[in-house]
Amino acid sequence: MFAIDHAATALLVKRRFPSVPMVPVLISVQAMELAWVALNYLGVERTTTEATVRSVADIHLAYIPWSHSVGTAIVAALTAWLIIEKGLGRAALGRAVGLGIASHLILDLLTHARDIALWPGIASPMLGLGLYASAPLAAFVVELIYGISCWWVYRGNRALLAVIVLFNLANLSFFSTTIPGPEQYLAGRPLLVVTIVFAQIVITLALVGILARRPAFQPSAT
Ligand SMILES: [Zn+2]
Repeated sequence: MFAIDHAATALLVKRRFPSVPMVPVLISVQAMELAWVALNYLGVERTTTEATVRSVADIHLAYIPWSHSVGTAIVAALTAWLIIEKGLGRAALGRAVGLGIASHLILDLLTHARDIALWPGIASPMLGLGLYASAPLAAFVVELIYGISCWWVYRGNRALLAVIVLFNLANLSFFSTTIPGPEQYLAGRPLLVVTIVFAQIVITLALVGILARRPAFQPSAT
């Protein structure tokens, strides 16, 4: 799933746990992706591209067992929950962060190619519904509707809706081989892919975090 829609998931978590601060929730929903960025830079995980990149299906998350496996995600979510709730005594925050981490796995399982392992070192089965490859425009519509749904549930403001819609639309060329876009410049440059994803993570988390802020004082309607 693309960065804006992972970021929008923080709205669902925040709606469920309104008392928790937004920043840890934002970080939790993208924790797996931030790990992926770091592990790609370190050379532990690997991204590859086709000779020409016409859509997201031409970019391969060739080796992502640590940042994106079912087991590591569940262990990370449970560990964060245990430390924050049982260790620090902050129950709501622990649940929100654990849920945020787990949400990333679920959303990626829906969209990714079969590149998500059960556990590092286990080569099969590899999981992923493969929407990006089999039905990319359906994936685009699903992501857009999902992002808007998060906004709807949160009852966000119009600026937040605009950011969610525009960042989804900005990804449109990645979902279609016939719509040209900046993805063509990513061919053979996997670390550029990583850097662009990292920039999208930071920008979308920041925008969602800023625009989701409620006014501290709401004057009565009378
Ligand atoms: Zn991911």
